[in-house]
Amino acid sequence: MATQVEAARLMVYNAARLRNSGKPFVTQAAMAKYFCSTIAEDVASKAIEVLGGVGFTKDYPVEKLYRDVKIGRIYEGTSNMQRATIAKALLDENH
Ligand SMILES: Cc1cc2nc3c(=O)[nH]c(=O)nc-3n(C[C@H](O)[C@H](O)[C@H](O)COP(=O)(O)OP(=O)(O)OC[C@H]3O[C@@H](n4cnc5c(N)ncnc54)[C@H](O)[C@@H]3O)c2cc1C
Repeated sequence: MATQVEAARLMVYNAARLRNSGKPFVTQAAMAKYFCSTIAEDVASKAIEVLGGVGFTKDYPVEKLYRDVKIGRIYEGTSNMQRATIAKALLDENH
């Protein structure tokens, strides 16, 4: 889980670095948004499993984090739209 979060963080920093240096960044930003929201959901799900059955209850905050991270794949460009942006950029690059 820590490795996934670290990889996601580095993707964000890379997109920000490109943006700050005036270079094209849309593809890397789309990849970062897509990857981070996917990782957030996966890591929150695993965090529930670490706690076992009680992780699923409202006795601990993890179930709320799991519900909250779901929105990352929906707003500010759904995961499908990020994938479409990435695919379009790659196809444009190759033609
Ligand atoms: C809690 C919350 C906060 C929000 N805050 C804001 C805000 O502050 N400002 C704002 O402007 N909006 C906000 N939104 C709206 C959010 O941006 C939209 O929900 C989001 O853009 C998805 O649009 P939609 O709900 O109309 O789904 P739709 O566009 O109907 O999409 C439904 C599904 O179909 C998929 N889909 C749609 N078109 C394609 C396509 N061409 N190719 C492949 N798949 C496709 C989508 O990926 C999605 O999975 C918020 C939404 C929520 C739930």
